[in-house]
Amino acid sequence: MRKPVIAGNWKMYKTIAEAVDFVTKLKPLVASAEHCEVVVAPPFTALRAVADAVKGSNIAVAAQNVHWDKEGAHTGDIAPGMLREAGCTHVIIGHSERRQDCGETDEQVNRKVKAALAAGLLPIVCVGETLAEREAGKTQEVLERQFRAGFAGLTPQDFSRIIVAYEPVWAIGTGRTATPEMAAESHRFIRGLVRQQLGEGVASAVRILYGGSVKPDNVKGLMAQEEIDGALVGGASLKVDSFSALVNFPQA
Ligand code: PEP
Repeated sequence: MRKPVIAGNWKMYKTIAEAVDFVTKLKPLVASAEHCEVVVAPPFTALRAVADAVKGSNIAVAAQNVHWDKEGAHTGDIAPGMLREAGCTHVIIGHSERRQDCGETDEQVNRKVKAALAAGLLPIVCVGETLAEREAGKTQEVLERQFRAGFAGLTPQDFSRIIVAYEPVWAIGTGRTATPEMAAESHRFIRGLVRQQLGEGVASAVRILYGGSVKPDNVKGLMAQEEIDGALVGGASLKVDSFSALVNFPQA
């Protein structure tokens, strides 16, 4: 049994005060959610305050990025140990916005994943094709390239602490969701890659989240797919009512 994860990626939204207010309101609404893990990913500035505010609750805190070095001359970057110190347990790595805005490569994703694991963080690693790639029939080729380079050199033990997020770029923030069947097809493909590289045990245990315009009105259909183990949510994670509705998604 894979326990679903519902993770909210707040991107560059929310001040410290807004972030603390959000989780203070969220806590009682998700307190009885035992069917899934709940993660929020505030901007760096709000991590410590949010981690303090969720202490003792079932809400975990993720950062949205991490550097691979323990420390060094990397202006504007944050080291894995610093995220631990700020109260993070998870970190999102390789989000398509970072790949697009900052030119993040699969090799960098790989270094970040290894560094995060070494520091005791649980990586949520994003993969996904652009619209042009999908229309050119290259979805699986892209996923395979991102997977093989991004997850190179990882052991089954490493993989037991990794969460994968399949996020087709054309569905992020656009209101265009992949149909549950389309998403499940890519999830199956990714799980097949895990199987090839790390064996059946790891493949059947790894959680693969779907991300791309997940909302309270489409979550049920997505979560009904056996292959979909939760959601990485942007827009709908910014409001307490929609995010709590996602966490408390109607189960069959
Ligand atoms: C995301 O940012 O990871 C995401 C899936 O965003 P949205 O839910 O807004 O499409």
